[in-house]
Amino acid sequence: MSRWLRARAPRGTARARHRADLKRWANWAVSTEASAAPTRTWTNWAGNQKSRVRRIATPGSTAEVAQVVREAAGQGLAVKPVGTGHSFTPVAVTDGVLVRLEHLARLRSADKASGLVTVEAGMPLWRFNELLAEQGLALTNMGDIQEQTVSGAIGTGTHGTGKASASIAAQVAALELVLADGSTVSCSATERPELFEAARIGLGAIGVITSVTFRTEPAFLLAAQEEPMRLDAVLDSFDQLWQDNEHFEFWWFPHTDTTMLKRNNRTAGPAAPLSRGRTWFEDEFLSNTFYSGLLKAGRSAPRAVPAINKLAARALSARSYTDRSDKVFTSPRRFKFLEMEYALPRAATVPALREVRRMLQDAGLRISIPIEVRTAPADKLWLSTAYGRDTAYLAFHMPNGVSPTEYFENAESIMVAYDGRPHWGKLHTRDRDYFATAYPRFDDFLAVRDKADPQRVFANAYTRRVFGS
Ligand SMILES: Cc1cc2nc3c(=O)[nH]c(=O)nc-3n(C[C@H](O)[C@H](O)[C@H](O)COP(=O)(O)OP(=O)(O)OC[C@H]3O[C@@H](n4cnc5c(N)ncnc54)[C@H](O)[C@@H]3O)c2cc1C
Repeated sequence: MSRWLRARAPRGTARARHRADLKRWANWAVSTEASAAPTRTWTNWAGNQKSRVRRIATPGSTAEVAQVVREAAGQGLAVKPVGTGHSFTPVAVTDGVLVRLEHLARLRSADKASGLVTVEAGMPLWRFNELLAEQGLALTNMGDIQEQTVSGAIGTGTHGTGKASASIAAQVAALELVLADGSTVSCSATERPELFEAARIGLGAIGVITSVTFRTEPAFLLAAQEEPMRLDAVLDSFDQLWQDNEHFEFWWFPHTDTTMLKRNNRTAGPAAPLSRGRTWFEDEFLSNTFYSGLLKAGRSAPRAVPAINKLAARALSARSYTDRSDKVFTSPRRFKFLEMEYALPRAATVPALREVRRMLQDAGLRISIPIEVRTAPADKLWLSTAYGRDTAYLAFHMPNGVSPTEYFENAESIMVAYDGRPHWGKLHTRDRDYFATAYPRFDDFLAVRDKADPQRVFANAYTRRVFGS
């Protein structure tokens, strides 16, 4: 059972509702899988997924990973590679052997001419960005943070926002991985292409990725333009904003008509980064420390949330700066929250968000964290949330300690009505039957998995729900 549901059980009628939450959302959580002699515990970043594992392995080479997999499979134990635990779903939970790759995190090669860079699977994105910068290279696009490992980030389809540039997994040119029988194979668009399609966004269910080759590009600067804008103005010009910008997103503050609009576009420079003091004040203090205080106030006095949101929205101010791409794409997130995010056909964004706004009013919900809206171009990765269609993402957050059930459930029913596909690493209640129709290549993925892991060495409760086994 997830920790957010167990902790802070409220009183009286709230307690009854909390119990109902437990029942209704049982499949968002994961019970610690039956384990005869659990010895170690593991918890994800948000603290809502916890498991007792039989062993934690920290191999330092591909050969050692293969040995770990062979031994575990021989003992009938499940194996689960984990990154930094930044997934909200139980995608990385296991009761068997948890494989952490912090000792398999080196740079293997970097070819500046082709842009092909190979790193070991446990390398965190922030370190990868530093290495790339030293080589005068960069990733084309990134998500909001850079704490994840390269393999964990691609494993659930981590994405940012972009008109033409897609997810991190879409920037992968080749993989090396250890399969369930302990064999080591490499794959790319030309070598074992089906395995490559399945393993890039594979939820750790195809094998343990040991190295990732990225197709990078020469380092570039982004000019960031951030400003508050009225929600209706953003919705009315949504298509134009998407059309005019390489990377466009906005955050809408529920119970207000204010959004924070962000536009990032490539520029020849010169660089004009924010000063250290301003970065600290705006990105650390205002966006994290001060904002955590507002969230805490909202948690203790939910009725005050709309007023608090208005206050937060009024505190927004415009800023523009030019900096190295990864520094513009990402920023720190210090406060803990739970998240659900759905990918919709891009054309559905505006009607869907209008419905969400109506739903919040009708249900009388008090939502303190802004809803984030991003876009992605159609891609061809089998389990990519943007597979085959131009996409927009709507992300819903709840601060830790507040039940997200009613909010996420109501929002999810709107997302599903628009053929939404949930992020594999963010909370949702969908199962195999849903995904079988949501993803045209779902059966192809399952066929590759059957071949790569017939005994389900890499399975867990989450794969059983979303893949049916
Ligand atoms: C604060 C915060 C901000 C976030 N921002 C974004 C965002 O902007 N965009 C977005 O799309 N998502 C975002 N996420 C979600 C996050 O990027 C994904 O959940 C990502 O998968 C987490 O990476 P990780 O390294 O923590 O992997 P984990 O969560 O530990 O694992 C994720 C999956 O990868 C698999 N995996 C890990 N290592 C390997 C390996 N070596 N071989 C095979 N499989 C492996 C695991 O088995 C698991 O299935 C955010 C999450 C948080 C908490």
